[in-house]
Amino acid sequence: MYVKDTIAAVATPPGPGGIAIVRTSGPDAERIAAGIFVSSGAAESQTFVSHRLHHGHVRDPRTGSVFDEVLLAFMRAPSSYTGEDTVEIQCHGSPFIVRTVLHLILALGARHAEAGEFTKRAFLNGRLDLAQAEGVLELVQANSEKAAGIALGQLGGGLSNLIAVLREDLVQVLVQIEAAIDFPEEDIELVHQGELCGRVESLIANIESLIASYQWGKLIREGVRICILGRPNVGKSSLLNALLGEERAIVTAIPGTTRDFIEETVNLDGLPATLWDTAGVRVGADGIERLGIDRTWAKVEDSDGILIVVDGSLPVMAEDQYIMDSVQAKQGIVVINKADLPQSFSSSAVSGTLAEWPRISVSALQHQGLAALKKELRQRFIDSTAEEPEVIVTNLRHKAALERAKHSLDEVLSTLMEGMPPEMAAVDLQGARESLETIIGTVTNDEVLDRIFSQFCIGK
Ligand code: GDP
Repeated sequence: MYVKDTIAAVATPPGPGGIAIVRTSGPDAERIAAGIFVSSGAAESQTFVSHRLHHGHVRDPRTGSVFDEVLLAFMRAPSSYTGEDTVEIQCHGSPFIVRTVLHLILALGARHAEAGEFTKRAFLNGRLDLAQAEGVLELVQANSEKAAGIALGQLGGGLSNLIAVLREDLVQVLVQIEAAIDFPEEDIELVHQGELCGRVESLIANIESLIASYQWGKLIREGVRICILGRPNVGKSSLLNALLGEERAIVTAIPGTTRDFIEETVNLDGLPATLWDTAGVRVGADGIERLGIDRTWAKVEDSDGILIVVDGSLPVMAEDQYIMDSVQAKQGIVVINKADLPQSFSSSAVSGTLAEWPRISVSALQHQGLAALKKELRQRFIDSTAEEPEVIVTNLRHKAALERAKHSLDEVLSTLMEGMPPEMAAVDLQGARESLETIIGTVTNDEVLDRIFSQFCIGK
């Protein structure tokens, strides 16, 4: 448990700004605020009305000097973020003023908060469970509309509610098994074994789909990885630049310029996609160029999809053919570039599984066909990757706990099916229950909590 002292920190980012917020939480928050705040309303006493904004000045109680004109919000426990008395002072965002306000608060007895300590208190006071608290962190770090939506769902208890339902199902199975242990003469085991196995199987299936949703969440956070592939000079770098709308990759008329790979991120309607512009694949290359090509194939392996670029103004060459043959196992799009020139490309040159890949004509030079390509990219690599799950697991800690729970339930299932003693199933069910409980924080330890909350910023 925690020492119920009073903590304070700046909640807004460092550096000058219009407004900054200094937060105080704990039993002395109101006393400390009263010590440094002079209300503008002469008639108002120095006790604060909860959940109201108070206008006034911050003053050094030792010297009487006034530092800033501020708004002060007081939230009385337990109706505050931390569940404790909380004061937020909105001052002007000069680093000097912010520092001074914080120092005055610390001088009156508050302790400087550690990273994530406000949210940790919210958790310890039962305002949030652990998964919700981690949702706060994800929300603070969200970099897209989708990521923010998922984090908000988690903060609102979406994942926690689902875990609670799974836990309840699990406890019911446990109750039946314990009854079989306590009253073996009733032969409960035999009567219910089929039904019990069915319930365990359905628990496993639900946990598996939550684990699978992690892949989706990863997609939202990190985006799809797409490799731009083609022989030298077909216009790969030009295509990357055109998709980015800026001159990032070096474009030259000398084949083999992109010796390594270049990585850039584009936004496909709110979802990030990482594009790798690779060294042009040339058969018979050696030296540095060979190294570049080796790395190209490594990138192909790591990618979720391929953009094969061909020069539409020329017939398909042996090198194009070689590249297409090498990626038959992947999925992708054939981009026929240089559509502004007279075309010599023949679709019959695209064979095998690549014959089924969509083909999009573009001119990287003249920025034609790019909207159609982006649309196809999204449909091909993002929308088709999976149905969006209702609840998405984005946190590796949660995924690991779900995997442990699933492993224990697999053991329960084999124990039941093989007719082994019910005590063994009970032990594994307890294990599965504890794994689920670590997600919401019913079962936890100080070290784990410290590790989780230290990822937060100070002031949150
Ligand atoms: P990479 O080696 O495949 O990366 O090819 P680059 O992007 O460096 O382009 C090679 C050459 O093709 C450069 O001279 C580009 O200006 C030219 N190029 C690229 N895209 C187009 C296009 O759409 N139309 C035309 N006409 N030329 C292009």
